[in-house]
Order: sequence, then structure tokens, then C-alpha cells
Amino acid sequence: MKRTALFVLVALLLMSVTAAAKTPTIGCAIYKFDDTFMTSVRNSILATAEGRAQVDMVDSQNSQAFQNDRVDMFITKGVDALAINPVDRAAAGVIIQKAMQANTPVVFFNREPFEDDMAMWDKVYYVGAKAEESGTISGQLIVDYWLANPDADKNGDGVLQYVMLKGEPGHQDAELRTEFSIKAVTDAGIKVECLAEDHANWDRVRGQEKMAAFLAAHGDAIEAVFANNDDMALGAIEALRAAGYFRGDKYIPVVGVDATAPALEALKEGTLLGTVLNDAKRQGEATLMLSYVLAMGETPTLENTGYEIVDGQYVWVPYAKITIDNWEDAL
Ligand code: BGC
Ligand code: CA
Repeated sequence: MKRTALFVLVALLLMSVTAAAKTPTIGCAIYKFDDTFMTSVRNSILATAEGRAQVDMVDSQNSQAFQNDRVDMFITKGVDALAINPVDRAAAGVIIQKAMQANTPVVFFNREPFEDDMAMWDKVYYVGAKAEESGTISGQLIVDYWLANPDADKNGDGVLQYVMLKGEPGHQDAELRTEFSIKAVTDAGIKVECLAEDHANWDRVRGQEKMAAFLAAHGDAIEAVFANNDDMALGAIEALRAAGYFRGDKYIPVVGVDATAPALEALKEGTLLGTVLNDAKRQGEATLMLSYVLAMGETPTLENTGYEIVDGQYVWVPYAKITIDNWEDAL
């Protein structure tokens, strides 16, 4: 009797020890919770963690100082890996230093650290998407429209007059989407004139305000609206609607990036011309899988994460062109 009880006790103890060892803790910080795209990434991280890892997720409230404090707390608590969406990508170096000292591997996502910082340590990874690619695709959406609709050149001068709503200054997606969207247009042999561009920081309300200001200054001279993300494109659409667009034959092409649920609705109602799928689900999944594998003391590979590791430290999730013809692909 006694021996059986002892045996059962030891077995139970062993089981709980191995179970504990098999559920690592990942400290995850998001630049801010109140961001449409990051909310989808966040949900994907949590869904992928189920049955694998315990994720301690915090809102950095758009403050790098606050995020650094949370990283210190994670390290003090002894998390097995860090998954960080930096507030300011230039701050990655500081975070890497903290992580190195504690020997806690770190996976950055969505906001790409500078190459010099990535080179500091081999237990640093980045999960994201090639910003240039999303710029090129959004430019192509406008090219397709311009070539198919001779009326798109409203003043008939052979030049595309456009406005640009940019994301946060310094964010690789803001800089490169702006540059490469226009490059795609000029590469197609179309002359362009920028009537106005401004940062609306990824935000819908700010997008609306900036677009209202662009309209006040340039009115119907604007022939196309580029936005670095869907939230700003949707804000612009609201300002355009208030100015009488999207009624009768008063139309203007507006393009965004992300393919969020409200953007797909706008596509279907005919206000948003097109968008670019920024695959939140796969970016979240890759972030969790890499953090999990690292937390288990292993090196991420295609086999153990499901994602190809490029140059030893990067996972690139592809973008895709989304129009009214294939919006279901974005679901
Ligand atoms: C998305 C934006 C988002 C930003 C956050 C970008 O990749 O397109 O919608 O606000 O990431 O860093
Ligand atoms: Ca023109």
C-alpha cells in the first residue's frame, strides 16, 4: 500500500515537473493595443500559443520608456523568451542588450530593427513583411485603374495628381510604402505630381482630418489617394464622402494596405479601390512559433516553426494584392 502510494506520488511529481518544463513563458509587448492591425497580430499570437506556451502580453501604450520597463520586468520574472513589437524601432538595440545579459532570446515583429542591432546577437530574430513589396502592390492598384479609366486623368494633363497619407515617421512601412508605391506608378511610365503628403500615424481619425485639409487646399484637382494603411484610407474615405464623393459619378481611387475587415467592407461597397493583404495571422503565428522554439532552447528552423528562416534571423511573410475580384483571399 505504502509503496504504491509513494510510487504514485513520485509519478505525479515527475509529471508535473515535465509538464512545467514543457510550458514556457513568453513575455510579449505590443507598441499599443489600440491599433487595428496589431490587434489581429495579437489575437493570432494568443491563438497559436494555446497548448504550447504561456504568453504574458502587455500594452506599451505607445511609450518606449514604458516598454523598456516592461522588458525589465519580464527579465526579472525569468521569462523564457521575449516577443517584442517595439514602439520605436531604433530602441531595439537597448532591448537586445538587456536580453543578451539575461540570455533571453528575443523575437521582434512588425517594426524592423536596424541591421546593426540585429547583428548584435544570434538569438535575435525578426518577423515581418517586406515593406517595399506592399508599396509596389499599392502603386500597381492605381496603375491598373489609371490604364483602364481614361477619365482618371480629370484635368487631362497626362499627369497623375495624388495625395499621400503616411504612417508614423521612421516606421519602415511608412517610408518604404510611400516610396515604392510612387515608384511603381512612374515605373509604369505614368507621370506624377504630389499635391500633398502628411503623416496621419496609421490612425483613422487623423487620416480623415488630413484628407479634409488636402481637399480644402486642392479640391477636385486630386486624382488619387494613397494611404500607407487601411485605417488612414478609411478616414480619407469619410472625408471624401463628406465632400460629396462616392455619390453619382463623383469618384476617386483610394488605396490602402492591411486588408482589415472594415477595409474589405469598403471594397465591397465600392469606396476603397484596393488594398494589400498584410497577413496578421501568419505574422502572429510565426512570431509565436519562433519565440516558443527559442524558449525551449532550440534554434528555429522551417521544420520546427513552419516558417523559412532567411539569413539566419528573418521570417518574411508575403503580401498580396486585394481587389473586389479576390477579397475572399484576405479572409
Ligand atoms: C500596418 C499598420 C500598423 C503598423 C503598426 C503596419 O504594418 O500596416 O496598419 O498600424 O504596422 O506598426
Ligand atoms: Ca491629371
